[in-house]
Amino acid sequence: MEITKHLLLNLSLLIVLLFFTQLVIERQASEKNRNGLQILYFILSILICFIFSIETSDGIRFDLRQVPMILGSLYTGQGFLLAGVTIIMRGFMGINDGFWTSAGVFTVLAFLLTWMHSWFSSLSLNQRVGVSILVTVITSMVLMQLIGIITEPITHPEAWISFLVIPAITSGLISYSIETIRQSLLIRQKLAKADKIEAVSHLSAAISHEIRNPLTTVKGFLQLLGEQSYPEEKKKEFIQIAVSELDRAEEVINDYLTFARPAFEKVEEIDVEKELNHVLNVLKPLANLNDIKINRKYTPGLIISGDRSKFQQGFINLIKNGFEAMPDGGELTVQTFLTGHTAHILISDNGIGMTEEQINRLGEPYYTTKGQQGTGLGMMVTFSIIRAMRGKVEIKSQPGKGTTFHMKFSNQTEK
Ligand code: ADP
Ligand code: MG
Repeated sequence: MEITKHLLLNLSLLIVLLFFTQLVIERQASEKNRNGLQILYFILSILICFIFSIETSDGIRFDLRQVPMILGSLYTGQGFLLAGVTIIMRGFMGINDGFWTSAGVFTVLAFLLTWMHSWFSSLSLNQRVGVSILVTVITSMVLMQLIGIITEPITHPEAWISFLVIPAITSGLISYSIETIRQSLLIRQKLAKADKIEAVSHLSAAISHEIRNPLTTVKGFLQLLGEQSYPEEKKKEFIQIAVSELDRAEEVINDYLTFARPAFEKVEEIDVEKELNHVLNVLKPLANLNDIKINRKYTPGLIISGDRSKFQQGFINLIKNGFEAMPDGGELTVQTFLTGHTAHILISDNGIGMTEEQINRLGEPYYTTKGQQGTGLGMMVTFSIIRAMRGKVEIKSQPGKGTTFHMKFSNQTEK
């Protein structure tokens, strides 16, 4: 029973490692990081299998290395990488017949599994678990036959258990766990989206409230002006207040309309440098007032497609936020560059920055930390504009250090 015990220990270590890595993976926001960690999990699992492999008196090594190799290739599509890792690690244990058998089997597996990867991804949850177990059983049988040829045929019943049953169970358990964890992540993402949609449907109600306030104020002043004769000075003051209230209402309506109609009426070529310069010129007085230096680092000739006036509005909101984050002055940097077919636009400030919680709430309607001064609609509008242009936003921010908004547009065309 020595071998079985050993393999069961091996199995439990793989499961513990699985839960630990999945916890870390769930916390990653970027898809790239998640995939990287997933691959790392399988590599570490192969390593653990080798560390806990057991050698019998006739020189056969028992472990579960085929399980992470098979599942890793099916789930991540990195069959060749994982086969390479497995073969190299096996090499460290001595180059003998066992090594060559192993190298042969894992190379063939790498080809087969890489080829199967996209088909595998298209299967249903239960089918994927089934296929994982099946591939593991077939591989184990092949390995067993080959070992039988090299040494002597395996007849001992325990060998059957160790070689077929335990790998099959391990494979099933791990793939079932991966599926369950994935499922719960998906459900949580869907819930988060539903939350946002609900927030938007509350928007119309909230907006009318927002507009009613300034309108009531304006109405009051107009009535006052009509009912009594005030000195010229006082009248001017009333009118000024009324106009500024109307300005505010107009701003809210503008923001709302852009958000409600994110689909573009016009799709035109946007000369990124020209439009950003235009935005910066509009905002120049504000920058001067706040003692803010503007740096421009452009890569010339960047063109993306979208609606020009909405592009401007989106970036006015972003840059204004940058200014407002630096009440005692600072530097705002606008940078553009190109990688492949993706145009990048970065807006950085060295202002007050945001905590992680604040970053997560960005774009939520009415989320503002500026009290009466803020509308809490700017980021929501900007995000919807960028989304409509099929752009992506990454936000990096540190409280007290500053914030960078990194926009990526993959629909750019070259001049
Ligand atoms: P508003 O500017 O009216 O408050 P926004 O939607 O434009 O509304 O921004 C929402 C909130 O996000 C702001 O109140 C602020 O707390 C935060 N924020 C946005 N941009 C920045 C930035 N560059 N630096 C620090 N905080 C920011
Ligand atoms: Mg704003």
